[in-house]
Amino acid sequence: MAQQVCTRCIMDTTDSITFDANGVCSVCAHDDEVRALRGYRPGVSEKELEKTIAAIRENSRGRDYDCIIGVSGGVDSAYMLYKAIEMGLRVLAVHVDSGWNLEMAEENIRKMCTALNVKLHTYVMDWPTMKELQRAYMLSGVANIDVPQDHLYCAAIYEMARKYNVKYILNGSNIATEGASAPFSAQHTYRDAWHMKSIYKKHGRGFSLKKYPFLSIRDAWLGLPGVTKINLLDFMPYSKTEAIRVLSEKFGWQYYGGKHFECRFTRYFQSVYLVKKFGYDKRRSHLSCLIRNGEMTREEALAEIALPPYPVEQQQEDEAYILERLEIAPEEWQRILAAPPTPNSAYFSQQKLIDLAMTVLGKAGMDKMKKKIYSVKS
Ligand SMILES: [Zn+2]
Repeated sequence: MAQQVCTRCIMDTTDSITFDANGVCSVCAHDDEVRALRGYRPGVSEKELEKTIAAIRENSRGRDYDCIIGVSGGVDSAYMLYKAIEMGLRVLAVHVDSGWNLEMAEENIRKMCTALNVKLHTYVMDWPTMKELQRAYMLSGVANIDVPQDHLYCAAIYEMARKYNVKYILNGSNIATEGASAPFSAQHTYRDAWHMKSIYKKHGRGFSLKKYPFLSIRDAWLGLPGVTKINLLDFMPYSKTEAIRVLSEKFGWQYYGGKHFECRFTRYFQSVYLVKKFGYDKRRSHLSCLIRNGEMTREEALAEIALPPYPVEQQQEDEAYILERLEIAPEEWQRILAAPPTPNSAYFSQQKLIDLAMTVLGKAGMDKMKKKIYSVKS
């Protein structure tokens, strides 16, 4: 089936989007609004940043750290770490070892933390537990099989924030290079512990998951009470190209070739699983953001997406490695890849409850409640 492609970015109808009369997609339109509202504004953002940093320092007096930054070894979190230190913040860097990180990513983190003299806490996930949960996801047929890792990252950061009584969590998420783009619409949120348990109940092998840090429903959807999340990169002009240049020059930091490619499992999930089973290529969304950020032309993005996300031999190596580690027979995996996708609604979830709350309270009501109980600004 021929896909309609946006005339401004390279998003197409493999995702649930619409187009205006000029053929510009709804993601572009939404992105424009978000950039104008919350993105970097010269002259204004600098003042806001100064105020924000002063507030972080003031409210963190007497504590060991001003903020926590989760570092994946990827470019956004690494650049944010660099900027936070430059602005004089006392940072606790938290890295999560889920068993899949590329050596290059780990090396990037070590180099930076040493050079910047930053305390690094590595949260090591119990591998047998991680393996069972990820194995169940691989067998489930849903779109977002990276939930066990994403949920873990969030839970680990929250655990550290509680442990060290830190009031601020700085996020590498940013409007400049990630835009307003929502994840692939078939993907279920990473927040939903009930969905995870339901998938595990059906496809797991019955081992206990008590060593996995499931988020409570409150923490998952509302955040930690008294802890503020800040997307620091939104206060400054940010470009991925420039960040890579600065990090390489200053720290000998190395680029690993694609968004979220610092993790071997995620690289395979995005580049092979979603493409083969869902016909969806996440690079469309990633490259489209770079077009909107003026870092790439539409022609360059089209040329790049025509190439494989990474070499096919490496994809096959990753597949064999993942299947062996998760004890899945190659024939069974081929059957799963060829089978129709499983809808998220095939499993029990918190989503229905949240939808109900939204219906009863409305978005404004939910925000009001959130503001009343929490001081979440993200
Ligand atoms: Zn577009």
